[in-house]
Amino acid sequence: MMEDIATAFPAVKILRNEPLAHYTHTKTGGPADYLAFPTNVQETKSLLAYAKQEKLPVTVVGNASNLIVRDGGIRGLVMILTEMKKITSTGQTVTAEAGASLIKTTQVAQSHALSGFEFAAGIPGSVGGAVFMNAGAYGGEISEVALSAEVLTPAGEIRTLTNEELDFGYRHSSIQDYHDIVLSATFTLTPGDGVAIQAKMDDLNARRAAKQPLDLPSCGSVFKRPEGHYTGQLIQEAGLQGLKWGGAQVSTKHAGFIVNIDHATATDYLELIHHIQEVILKEDNVHLETEVRIIGEKPTTAN
Ligand SMILES: Cc1cc2nc3c(=O)[nH]c(=O)nc-3n(C[C@H](O)[C@H](O)[C@H](O)COP(=O)(O)OP(=O)(O)OC[C@H]3O[C@@H](n4cnc5c(N)ncnc54)[C@H](O)[C@@H]3O)c2cc1C
Repeated sequence: MMEDIATAFPAVKILRNEPLAHYTHTKTGGPADYLAFPTNVQETKSLLAYAKQEKLPVTVVGNASNLIVRDGGIRGLVMILTEMKKITSTGQTVTAEAGASLIKTTQVAQSHALSGFEFAAGIPGSVGGAVFMNAGAYGGEISEVALSAEVLTPAGEIRTLTNEELDFGYRHSSIQDYHDIVLSATFTLTPGDGVAIQAKMDDLNARRAAKQPLDLPSCGSVFKRPEGHYTGQLIQEAGLQGLKWGGAQVSTKHAGFIVNIDHATATDYLELIHHIQEVILKEDNVHLETEVRIIGEKPTTAN
């Protein structure tokens, strides 16, 4: 029974009817029926098995930096993996649990004078979310440094997937197709000079701060880059930069971002996204596909 989940896992923090707006980087989104914070692989595995047995839908979330959760929230069990956050380094590799901050993982690589991870120094996701998305920036992406990932399959088996099996593409990995849960990932890097690595990370972060509205809540780039175009430029040229929709606004600093300027709802975000897609399709005949993942239920009142 759903009511029993917190009783069944007394050692795991499980919140009921918890607003996900407290966790998402857009500061929007409805409640999770149950929000669990597993701290290790065994807890994650047991929660998944329990949910399967009770026929509860399961959703996995990392740092919620690439997510819009609809205002109706998420039914069933949401597992947020941010308490699974150990990071270790051996030789030329760094291994991080799924909920570890990607930014901290790049800092551990730097502290071991390992190069190759600098591109991710400012990506505010978790390691699991970064593998799921094949996150990338400044010419680098996860596919170039990932050696393998340990996953929990929907059938409850733990498997190690190689880089090849992860089937990385532009903002794509096999995790999206097979609905595995990433438990940890190992990255293989190159020995370098710690000071030079830090300088490169600082430079990329300064470039990021100059271009992106980091002072306001957002989900990063809302849309994938359409072939042959720059999203921000299309949006700017269509006169949509600065457009406000409820409490959401097309960022005046970077037109590819939508910022929460005044208690925006997920519905504000989604309607603005839809409007941008319609205008760009009409004006440029380009379909802007969302990079941000949109999950959860519509609010019953806005159906
Ligand atoms: C200011 C800002 C700047 C950003 N800059 C960049 C950038 O430069 N490059 C870039 O690529 N992205 C960028 N992003 C987007 C985001 O940080 C990345 O996509 C990141 O990889 C998402 O990780 P997350 O843990 O936040 O994932 P979440 O948002 O929590 O989840 C994203 C998806 O991954 C799934 N997921 C998360 N964890 C797991 C797991 N352990 N197992 C299975 N599935 C999982 C979720 O179900 C969801 O579908 C930016 C976002 C912000 C807010």
